[in-house]
Amino acid sequence: MSRPLRVLHVAAEMFPFVKTGGLADVTAALPAALQEAGVDVRVLLPGYPAVLDAMGKSRKVFEGTGLYGAARVTLQQGTLRGSTVPAYVIDAPYLYSREGGPYQDGTGHEWRDNLQRYAQLGWCGAHLAGGDIDERWQPHILHAHDWHAALASLMLRLHPARTARSVFTIHNLAYQGRFPLADFHLLGLPSQCLHGLDGMEFHGDISFMKAGLIGADAITTVSPSYAREITTAEFGCGLEGVLRSRTHDLHGILNGVDPAVWNPATDAHLAARYDVTSLDGKAQCKTVLQQQMGLAVRREAPLFAVVSRLSQQKGLDLLLEALPALIEAGGQLVLLGSGDAALEAAFRDAARAHPAAVAVQLGYDETLAHRIIAGADAIVLPSRFEPCGLTQLYGLRYGTVPIVRRVGGLIDTVDEVTGFGFLEPERTLTEALRLAVEEYATPATWQARMREGMRRDHGWSNAASRYVTLYQSLLQAAASPS
Ligand code: ADP
Repeated sequence: MSRPLRVLHVAAEMFPFVKTGGLADVTAALPAALQEAGVDVRVLLPGYPAVLDAMGKSRKVFEGTGLYGAARVTLQQGTLRGSTVPAYVIDAPYLYSREGGPYQDGTGHEWRDNLQRYAQLGWCGAHLAGGDIDERWQPHILHAHDWHAALASLMLRLHPARTARSVFTIHNLAYQGRFPLADFHLLGLPSQCLHGLDGMEFHGDISFMKAGLIGADAITTVSPSYAREITTAEFGCGLEGVLRSRTHDLHGILNGVDPAVWNPATDAHLAARYDVTSLDGKAQCKTVLQQQMGLAVRREAPLFAVVSRLSQQKGLDLLLEALPALIEAGGQLVLLGSGDAALEAAFRDAARAHPAAVAVQLGYDETLAHRIIAGADAIVLPSRFEPCGLTQLYGLRYGTVPIVRRVGGLIDTVDEVTGFGFLEPERTLTEALRLAVEEYATPATWQARMREGMRRDHGWSNAASRYVTLYQSLLQAAASPS
């Protein structure tokens, strides 16, 4: 690279500071992988309390008043504890300084001012990329993630002095950031941004996701299969037409695993560490997990795991249906998750009815997630749709065989050599679990499958070089007269 490429990532979450799902893992790992590839990367995040707490020495690059209802907004630039990627953080206490989750309060209700909170994120992203916030640093590429950051792409397109190009990544099309049409005026956007093919109006609402899809120069999503699926009515969430109109700008780039966080050879959360050449530590992790979760400590019992949000998307109702047969066959299940109240109750009941075979921990627990993924024999993802999915990748890395519904990124990351796939009507989850239980009884065959998965390349370097190629192609297209 003759001059370093400068890229600004804009996102609402970043591990370990704020995380509700895979988005946070990606916005931590991808910028770091790009940095390793020689890119000059920075991130922009909302100043939630945990983010501001992690900020070391910082420099104020912007101060404003009255933006999106906030009396005072400052943009601080510094480095977050434990991260090597420089960060811009929006310090706007009125918008971000509150207890609860990033999108919801402690009782699970969406924050009523999410429109203003994420319009602010978009505004800062667009103006940083437009060059009128930080005179010392202006990106060539603005890379916005999911609906929360989507307005950055649209606002940059409208910027009078724009030179930067933008990429918008869909991590999950089902979460769209929809708000009442009557609130459009709060965004401060010209009315041509609302209506027509190029407008953010969507079925009588406004949609931040749609703003990203129409505003960005290129759209990516987190696996090639999901990139194809979302152009169809079955998976497109009503946006398939918009996506089809941009097929040439739509790319599927598979996520990877952050080796600094998910590596069985160095993982400090585990009772014992291991790698593909020496699996003894994994057997120890299993025993400790069975003990910790109150399961029967049986080395020969195949132990299946789930670490997941409990939502309709994840298809865990299918696992509930398959559970009696799994227990009957001598299998065990450990589940860590939270979400849908009915699913939580059903899994809790199953654990109560079969305490030696089923263990359930409701809630969010980073350490337990690592211990489960290391200690289990198999990880189950019966998702109805799955943009990429990360826990099956963690499973592969940890020798924990994935059992997956053949959709989205699960198709692209798990094959019949490294895991078990199913898709009704040809094969049900119950049948896939039965095949796994049968194979587990022959340790040599099972271990060959584990090792094959562990040997595959799950790193970020492939994805990082694909993103760099995409960034460069956008800049070349902008430089060459059409
Ligand atoms: P999604 O983003 O749809 O929730 P992904 O598979 O892409 O699904 O990413 C989920 C991430 O969240 C993984 O890092 C997984 O380990 C983590 N995770 C999910 N549920 C929990 C939980 N209850 N406790 C700890 N980590 C969890």
